[in-house]
Amino acid sequence: MDGRQLLDWYSQHRRSFPWRTPFPRDPYLVLVAEVMLQQTQASRVAELLPRFLARFPRLEDVAAAGEDQVVAAFAGLGYYRRARLLHRLAQQLVQRGWPQDPHQLRQLPGLGPYTAAAVAAFAFGHLTPPVDGNLARIAARLLALPLSAHSAQLRRQATALFSQMAQSQSTPALFEALMDLGATVCRPVSPLCGQCPLAARCLAFQKGRPEDFPLPKPQRARETPTWLALWLENPAGEVLLRPITEPPLQGLWLPPLERGSGEVETRLRRLLGELGLGGEPKAVGRLSHRITHRLITVLVFRLSVPPQVGENGRNGRWVSVEANVPTSSLAYKIARLVAEAESQRSITYG
Ligand code: SF4
Repeated sequence: MDGRQLLDWYSQHRRSFPWRTPFPRDPYLVLVAEVMLQQTQASRVAELLPRFLARFPRLEDVAAAGEDQVVAAFAGLGYYRRARLLHRLAQQLVQRGWPQDPHQLRQLPGLGPYTAAAVAAFAFGHLTPPVDGNLARIAARLLALPLSAHSAQLRRQATALFSQMAQSQSTPALFEALMDLGATVCRPVSPLCGQCPLAARCLAFQKGRPEDFPLPKPQRARETPTWLALWLENPAGEVLLRPITEPPLQGLWLPPLERGSGEVETRLRRLLGELGLGGEPKAVGRLSHRITHRLITVLVFRLSVPPQVGENGRNGRWVSVEANVPTSSLAYKIARLVAEAESQRSITYG
């Protein structure tokens, strides 16, 4: 399948983003943009990428920074594991240089098959397609493949089809054309086949059933855990934050959390014991927080502690509310709930 019509369409309809500079692109710009795009919408990345580049203009600046500084520069993007991997990756690249082949890029920390192919294509002109959800969907429709959107078989078919298209045009711009086509025309729901430059070759369109391809992905059962959060204040008006050491919030500082299961009272006592505290925390309220596929209910408690309860490396750090520490939006939600509860103190859990 030749991609000429697609490139003609792209020259008129391409979306403009700060990372879409002329080919070949600066590998560092491509890398940061692609890492951010892994789990964040393009419009949000377009807003926040310039701020990151102003803070870290070169790969060497990321490598020389502390991990916390890189995580803090991802504020607003979420999924902070990416920032930690980017930091490690930058250190490795500064020491050993850039591989240009997608298979070698794939061996680096934080680079999956999509990101490795995107960096190889947009920075080094390699023509292995970065197959994301858009490209997989378009391939499933062009070939009327009854495969699930996330199946390895569909990814392989999409790779073969779009490699051949890109070779025929000798440009990685074809991959961006497909990404834009998927985002604006070959949409998951209600595709605009009347505006599509590939309609004449599309088997799903010819069958009159474009939305039947690809098959829906099997639903993953949602987990709904309940966490406890303890808002501790000292007489100086500071709150206690602790570093989280396990995924999914690893490396972020939050009020003490209990993430086990069982009876609330027992869990609360366990958390107080861990902190070396007694007393009777007051129930503040509950909130919901989504992390990937998990919708977490957080029960928030509050306790004022006397001045002799000091800073303790294991138990955390007392900070003012405005302190600049890498944290999650969950910490802000907890702080808001505590502030709101100031005026209505008689909350009980139903
Ligand atoms: S014709 Fe319709 S279904 Fe086929 S690729 Fe174009 S927009 Fe997608």
